[in-house]
Amino acid sequence: MADPSSAAIPGPAGRAAPAPLVAIQVGAVSFVDEGVEGCLETLQARGAVNALFLADFTYTRGTGGRQVPGQPLPDHGAQEHDPGWIGGNYARARPEYYGGTFIRPEAFAAPEHPGLDLLEAVLPAARARGLAVYSWIEESSYGPQLQNIPGFWRCLEVDHRGRLAGRPCLRHPDYRAWHLGLIEERVAAYGVDGVAWCSERHGPLQAALMRWSEYAASTCFCPHCLAAARERGLDADRARAGFAELEHLAGRAGAADRPPDGYFVSFWRLLLRYPELLGWDALWHEGQNDFLRAAHGLVRGVGRGRSTFGWHIMHLNSFSPFYRATQDIAAFSHHADFLKLVAYNNCAGPRWVGHLQGLHRLFLADAAPRDTVAWMYAVLGVDEETDLDAVARHGWSAEYVRRETARAVALVSPSCGGSGRTSIYPGIDIDIPTGAGQKKTTPDDVRAAVEAAFAGGAAGVVLSRKYSEMRLANLSAAGDAVRGLAARGP
Ligand SMILES: [Zn+2]
Repeated sequence: MADPSSAAIPGPAGRAAPAPLVAIQVGAVSFVDEGVEGCLETLQARGAVNALFLADFTYTRGTGGRQVPGQPLPDHGAQEHDPGWIGGNYARARPEYYGGTFIRPEAFAAPEHPGLDLLEAVLPAARARGLAVYSWIEESSYGPQLQNIPGFWRCLEVDHRGRLAGRPCLRHPDYRAWHLGLIEERVAAYGVDGVAWCSERHGPLQAALMRWSEYAASTCFCPHCLAAARERGLDADRARAGFAELEHLAGRAGAADRPPDGYFVSFWRLLLRYPELLGWDALWHEGQNDFLRAAHGLVRGVGRGRSTFGWHIMHLNSFSPFYRATQDIAAFSHHADFLKLVAYNNCAGPRWVGHLQGLHRLFLADAAPRDTVAWMYAVLGVDEETDLDAVARHGWSAEYVRRETARAVALVSPSCGGSGRTSIYPGIDIDIPTGAGQKKTTPDDVRAAVEAAFAGGAAGVVLSRKYSEMRLANLSAAGDAVRGLAARGP
């Protein structure tokens, strides 16, 4: 129960999402720097925005704080970087929502803007302007919580050698209760129109495929995951042995010590010898799905049908068929009111090249990226530039946005086993930072991407990743596209 003395802001009864939804991800610093009314006016006037994805909880630079240090500041907001930014919770955090966890409100309060309750500051003004307000919660599993929350190490995943890993386990009861408390508070105490949850992480097999992230090493073997494995009849010792052999193979690939049968065959043989590797990867993803189902039930129940729940599907879904296989959109549609599907086309160019090179460090190390790029595109349903130098400079096209959207729209339909009730909102790339000499966003890119999303059957778009890194001309291009489509009619 919420503290009755707290200033609860009632939600609108039975309010439907705007159609089409034109949302923008925006964080606390933009309202502080530009004023609540000034910021909302810009978003509505330039971007034709009718919904906020308010980044009220994030430890991630991609959605919190000003422009990424080292990148040029956009033409609005304070003209100074904030290199010391940490992030955390930008709402009040009433202790009664966190009774099920040792994690205390004062430990996860963002140090920036003390005294600011972003939801309380923005909700009334946004509602007065007819804007829907969604709480955007970025789980930030790789954020600095470990240093900032006393005892946080207790929530961490455990690897196949019994060592603590660098990110929390979604099966840990205190960690789950913390995040479910954050979600409950947004719905019960603030009456938000929806909660959009973001968790950019993947299972242990994907980590091995890419040799990408030490944090996502061979996990999770914590007591809660071991119990879940026992329920499924999965043998943890066999999984540990499989991951140890996989680690050995990755080490050989790192040393360019190619086995006589090559990397691909050796990898596949490991899967045959240790099917527990696949079982453990599925177990990991099931832990994430359990959390999402609980969160959806919570929002629908506590919100009494007035709030919706959905989540962000990360960019890796566009690049990796292995990760995509874990993201069953038809199945998701039975516990997601909406899905924000990342379809960032400009930064996709350099990100795709980086991803493909990662796959070639182990799984595809028998060949060169130029040998597999066309095949990978075919598997992924992508039709883009195959020259990897050029694609980093040019990005992917708006056609990628249309294809990704159409694929997801098809998957949520009853004919594919979907619920037929889940809205697909592609994330639109506006000035997501890239490296020197790599693709930068132009107004034409944004216009084409927004039009492509709707051509693919989108129920809306989410202008991403954060207003504080967008240039105004590019934001205006999104608004121009939306208004142009409205004028043309269905
Ligand atoms: Zn675990």
